[in-house]
Amino acid sequence: MELNTSSITSIAEAVKTKKISAVEVTSHFLARIDQHDKKINSFVSLNARALEEAASIDKRIAAGESVGALAGVPVAVKDLLCTEGLRTTACSKILENFVPPYSATVVEKLRAAGAVVLGKTSLDEFAMGSSNETSIFGSVKNTWNLYYVPVVSSGGSAEALAARLAPAAIGTDTGGSIRQPASFCGVYGIKPTYGRVSRYGIIAFASSLDQAGPMAHSTEDCAVLLEAMSGKDRLDATSASIEVPSWSKSLRKDLKGLRIGLPKEYFSEALDPDVARVTQEAIAALKAVGAEPVEISLPLVKYAVSIYYLIATSEASSNLARYDGVRFGYRSNFDENPAADLGEFYARNRGEAFGAEVKRRIMLGTYALSSGYYDAYYQKAGQVRRLLRDEFLQAFEKCDVILSPVTTSPAFKLGERISNPLEMYLNDIFTTSTNLAGLPGMSVPVGFSKLGLPIGVQLMAKHFDEQRIFDVSKALETAFKAGEKVPNGI
Ligand code: GLN
Repeated sequence: MELNTSSITSIAEAVKTKKISAVEVTSHFLARIDQHDKKINSFVSLNARALEEAASIDKRIAAGESVGALAGVPVAVKDLLCTEGLRTTACSKILENFVPPYSATVVEKLRAAGAVVLGKTSLDEFAMGSSNETSIFGSVKNTWNLYYVPVVSSGGSAEALAARLAPAAIGTDTGGSIRQPASFCGVYGIKPTYGRVSRYGIIAFASSLDQAGPMAHSTEDCAVLLEAMSGKDRLDATSASIEVPSWSKSLRKDLKGLRIGLPKEYFSEALDPDVARVTQEAIAALKAVGAEPVEISLPLVKYAVSIYYLIATSEASSNLARYDGVRFGYRSNFDENPAADLGEFYARNRGEAFGAEVKRRIMLGTYALSSGYYDAYYQKAGQVRRLLRDEFLQAFEKCDVILSPVTTSPAFKLGERISNPLEMYLNDIFTTSTNLAGLPGMSVPVGFSKLGLPIGVQLMAKHFDEQRIFDVSKALETAFKAGEKVPNGI
C-alpha cells in the first residue's frame, strides 16, 4: 500500500480489514519523520507511546471489537493542544517542560475514533504570528521552497502534511492559522464554525476566536476528521449543542444553482497577480459545474484587522496572565538571585520566558483593556465586530458560499516581514473576519505561483453550514487536483 498518498479512509479501511497493521502504518510515518524532518523542523516532540497506541488498535481489531472511522490513522497535533503525558509547549520557553495531566477533548475524540497521535508540531509562540518564525524550536521551513515561510502558526502541521510525514494534522485558527498555512503548503484546512469543536485543553490565545480544525490532503479527509472532532462538550460552555452531520457522505455531485458570493472589497488592485489569477481560475471552474457567481459587498471588512488585533490582544493579555511561574512553567533562578518581592518574582519569570511578539501582544491588550481606554478600544471593537457579523449574515441572503483569496500574496521569504509587525498583521486581512463573525472558513489548494509555491482559495459559509463549504471544496478538488502534487525531494 502506498501510504504517502493514501486517503485517511483507505488507511483506516486497510487497517480494519487487516491488509496492513496500525503498527506498520505508524512505523512508516515515524521513519519518514526521522528521514526528512531535520530539514523542515515541523515536529517539536514525538509521542513515545505512538507504537504502543497503534498496537492496541491492532489488538482490538484482532479481538473483533469495533474501532472507529480513524482506525490506525496517524495524526500530527499542533503543540497548542494538551496531550496527557506528552510535553505541550505552545513553542514558548514559559511552557518548555510542561507535561499536561490531561488531554484536550479534541485529542480524546480523535483517539476514541482510533487515531494515533504521532507527535506535536511547531507553531509561532502561543500561535501569535503569521510566519512560524517565533517558535523557541526555530522556524519551520516551507517544503516547497526551504527559503520561504510556511506561514502562520499551524505551519508545523501544514508542513508535516506537505512532506507526507503524516496523513492528517490538527491545527488551530484564531485569525487564519489553519487556512493560511494550508494555502501556502498546498493542503486542505478548515476552521469550523465557532462552537463546533470543543476548546477544552487547547492553550487559550483569544478565547472568543480560537477554534481547532483538521488539515489533510483532500476534502473527504478533512470532513472525516471534523466529524470525529466535533460535538458538544460539557467541559466547554461555548461548544454548541448541535447535531454533527456526516459531511463526507453527503457531498454534492454538481453545484447547479449554488450561488458563490464574491466580495468586491477582496478583489482589489493590491492583490498579487498570481493570487488573482488562481482565484479567477477557481471561479471559472465552479461556473463550469453549474455554480452562479454573484457580486456581494462587505464594506466593514476593511476594519477586520484593526478589530481583530484589539480583541485578540486583549483576550491574550488576560489569558496569558496565568503564566506566572508559581504552579507550573518557567521559573527564573531565584536560588542564586532571590526576588525582592512578589512583583519581581512575576516580572522575572514572565520577562525571561515570553518572546518579543508575545510581550508586544500582552502590552497592546493590557492597554486596550485598561480603565479609560476600555470603552474607546475593546468595547468599540466588540461593537464593530457585531456589525461585521450582521453584514456577513446579510450577504448570505444573496449567496450560499463566499469565495475569496486566503492572503494577498503567496508565501514570502523567511525573515522578510518579521521586523515589521504591522506588515505581518496586514497579512491577515482576508482571514480574520471569518473568526470575528464566528463563521466556518476553509482553504482549498487550487494552483501555484510562477515560483511554484502553492496557492489556495478561501471558502466561507453560514454558521454551521460546513456542508456547503465541503461541496464547493470537492468541486475544486475534482477540477484542479492541486493537493495531489508532491514537493520535489519528498
Ligand atoms: N496571524 C494571526 C495572529 O498573529 C492569526 C494567528 C492564529 O490564527 N493563531 O494573531
